Amino acid sequence: MDRATTIGELRAAGYPDRTIKEELRENLLARLRAGDELFPGLVGFDDSVLPAIERGILAGHDLILLGERGQAKTRLVRALVRLLDDAVPMIAGCEINDHPYHPICARCRGLVAADPDGAGRSVTSSRSTTG
Ligand SMILES: [Zn+2]
Repeated sequence: MDRATTIGELRAAGYPDRTIKEELRENLLARLRAGDELFPGLVGFDDSVLPAIERGILAGHDLILLGERGQAKTRLVRALVRLLDDAVPMIAGCEINDHPYHPICARCRGLVAADPDGAGRSVTSSRSTTG
């Protein structure tokens, strides 16, 4: 599927207006349904930490990881990034990558207010993640 190039196309394509927590939850549910390994490379937490993390994400909770050095806190957070969508829409030319549905900066709020469907304005998608 081609990516939307305007806000109107984005809405027409059914791109959901959801929070990060909702995105994590939906992608976690999809991974659980598919039977994918959720946290590859994390050993020894299958019966303790990982179920709690899954429940926290499914419930939409804020998460705080506490632990001694070397207990895979960073590795776990890096694995959580894989639960995010590969790409997110943003208003082209914005310095802070405003979301098309909820622009923050004055420039983009003005653009969207003047033309809510964004005709002639491009919406680019990318999410730069590492790992
Ligand atoms: Zn902006």
